[in-house]
Amino acid sequence: MNAFENALAQLARASAVRTVSPAILARLSKAEREITVSIPVTMDDGAERLFEGYRVQHSSARGPYKGGIRYHPHADIFEVRALAFWMTLKCAVAGIPMGGGKGGITVDPRDLSKGELERLSRGWVKRMYPILGPKQDVPAPDVNTTPEIMGWMADEYSKLTGDMTNATFTGKPLDKGGSEGRGAATGLGGFYVFEALREYLELPEKCRVVIQGMGNVGGNAARIFHEHGHTIIGISDSAGGFVRMQGIDPAKIEAHKKEHGSLAGFPGGEVIDNSDFLELECDLLIPAALENQITGDNASRIKTRAVLELANGPTTPEADDILFSKHIAVVPDILANAGGVVVSTFEWEQNLKGEHWTEEDVNARLKELMQREAAAIAARAKELKTDLRRAAFIVAIERLEKAMV
Ligand code: GLU
Repeated sequence: MNAFENALAQLARASAVRTVSPAILARLSKAEREITVSIPVTMDDGAERLFEGYRVQHSSARGPYKGGIRYHPHADIFEVRALAFWMTLKCAVAGIPMGGGKGGITVDPRDLSKGELERLSRGWVKRMYPILGPKQDVPAPDVNTTPEIMGWMADEYSKLTGDMTNATFTGKPLDKGGSEGRGAATGLGGFYVFEALREYLELPEKCRVVIQGMGNVGGNAARIFHEHGHTIIGISDSAGGFVRMQGIDPAKIEAHKKEHGSLAGFPGGEVIDNSDFLELECDLLIPAALENQITGDNASRIKTRAVLELANGPTTPEADDILFSKHIAVVPDILANAGGVVVSTFEWEQNLKGEHWTEEDVNARLKELMQREAAAIAARAKELKTDLRRAAFIVAIERLEKAMV
């Protein structure tokens, strides 16, 4: 199953709990607009290479399309379509005035020099700029895209259009109109959701946490959970996992990885392969990498008490059923990882108003919003006697339905 088929299966499962009008379901099942482009890039050796780029504008019912741009060798239109769909639901769950969109380029950025990466990023904007804008479509970072890349893209956009609001891209560097707190926002938002739901999930005050992924999201989540006294017993990157029952200091293992290029050799624990990693016994499992990680194949061996989805789409519908039957609660991506797009929306608002909020202010607003929406979804799940994913979908669909009608 590709990610978009999984997304549609989630929609169908939610609409079995609470009737949704067929017209709304039909609209949510299709993107409003999808664009595939080819981007010519002059490589450092002078040869020209063509890259494939995408933007899927899924829904503008609640506001401008909003969502990141992913650089990955496996990025394709199906993945970007699923991610755009989830952005629509996510922005509705968060109650922010944004629709859903997503972009991507099929590329492994590690194969490119910095100059090639910049030309490719500017090339994506050259192809896409007529359909972007503060009131039209507001892209942001996602897997393998950084504030620096957003800075290049924002610069290219203002050159091409003359737009000086700087509100078309979010996740920009701080000195180029970025927001305080945007870098850590997805991890921090996930932590606020965890705090709001800890008792509902029947988790202990201090948890043993396993985190898959050490990118922006996994790395910040590890730091934040560690700072709050939880024990990180496992952490992984794309090459493998590292386990240490007494706990891992995320700053130290990051420094080790930077120096040695891998997690191997970090003292006091052991390296295990990525398939065993997800099956570690723990209180909280946090997938913070890519989609389709907990599937029908491995779900029966998962030994956590709860899953906090900081990646998009890490659990397949088949795995959802298996985890449910094992009483393992899943806090769905469209709630758990909404912190990133929430602070992106704060950035957009600051750019449009010409303001710059303090980190304290940004985090306080983020906390209030995430905890409020998490509590509302848990209440809805109880009322409907369903799981958190279906409850989150239902809350989102009701908000979307209002906007569409
Ligand atoms: N890429 C992030 C996500 O999947 C953030 C999107 C944004 O900031 O617009 O939610």
